[in-house]
Amino acid sequence: MGHVLRRLRRVLDSLLHGVRRRATLAAIAARRPASVLFMCNGNIFRSPFAAALLTRALNHGGEGAAVESAGLIGPGRPAAREAILAAARHGIDLRNHRSQLATAALVRAAGRAPARGVGMSVHHFSVDVEEYFHVSAFERHVRYADWDGFESRVSGNVDQLLDLLARSQTRATFFVLGWVAERHPGLVRRIAAAGHEIASHGWDHARVTEQSPLAFRDSIRRTKIFLEDLAATPVVGFRAPSFSIVPGREWALDVLLEEGYRYDSSLFPVRRNGYGYANGRRDPHWLKRPAGRLAEVPPATLRRWGAQWPAGGGAYFRLLPYAVVRAALRDCERRGVPGTFYIHPWELDPEQPRLEVPCTAIADTVARL
Ligand SMILES: [Zn+2]
Repeated sequence: MGHVLRRLRRVLDSLLHGVRRRATLAAIAARRPASVLFMCNGNIFRSPFAAALLTRALNHGGEGAAVESAGLIGPGRPAAREAILAAARHGIDLRNHRSQLATAALVRAAGRAPARGVGMSVHHFSVDVEEYFHVSAFERHVRYADWDGFESRVSGNVDQLLDLLARSQTRATFFVLGWVAERHPGLVRRIAAAGHEIASHGWDHARVTEQSPLAFRDSIRRTKIFLEDLAATPVVGFRAPSFSIVPGREWALDVLLEEGYRYDSSLFPVRRNGYGYANGRRDPHWLKRPAGRLAEVPPATLRRWGAQWPAGGGAYFRLLPYAVVRAALRDCERRGVPGTFYIHPWELDPEQPRLEVPCTAIADTVARL
């Protein structure tokens, strides 16, 4: 049914496109702006393409307005090859276009500055900062007492992520394990200094399903104090190891509020063995709890074939076609909400020591990002 409605909307959109286009052009021409600045998130393809089409349309009418385009992230990037080809089919040459950053001066100078999709294509990029030997799937094979005996890889892996994020001018949220922060204080400072948000992943990767309320409180309190001290900013976000706030463990949400946390990212609205909050809402929302109001930011899911699938990262990102994650994020854009993507530093590290347990598809992660 949803599929049919979407189809119908697309048909209506394409039928109305010409009408809207003529109305918009008439409205712009009536205002006689000396200049127009088109803005979109990256200024790689959509806004320069729109700007070129508008220049052509206005100049046909003899208006001669100066039309420019700019974006909010990543200056100096070219359009993708297929985008250049698509524009060429409309007689527009984007081969020499390089994205330009929208500065306040540029926006002020423009007679009109329409923004396209600026608020819609912003998603949450989040990182669970832990070592490769912290993975919950390994907990039966790797004892807590032995953790300090393993080679540490987290610092180098996170630096690689910081580099990737800097290159695309993206800010992320890093859910840091207290255990890691204690051993790598400089790493937490570097993440914060790069402008990213520091949040909490608990102290020692214990699942909420295996903690008493008292042990949980102790873990999240200790981690918060420790991280705030290092980052010199308030820590208000939490993600439970292995998304382990499951039905019946909602008391953890109240403990978070009581300990000064303001949002949670642990309720994964999928039905899975050992984790998941199947009846949870899929988009960011407020939870009304006895202890107050807590913002909930679930990882992205994809609704297809009558079920809801995890699509926000982890093994799904490594093993399934990238199209699955992209479809989930595009669906979020259609709903006008941000999607939440998550990754672990060890997913970028094909060189990590092999534990005697199954481990898959690490070699391709960097290319996929
Ligand atoms: Zn974790």
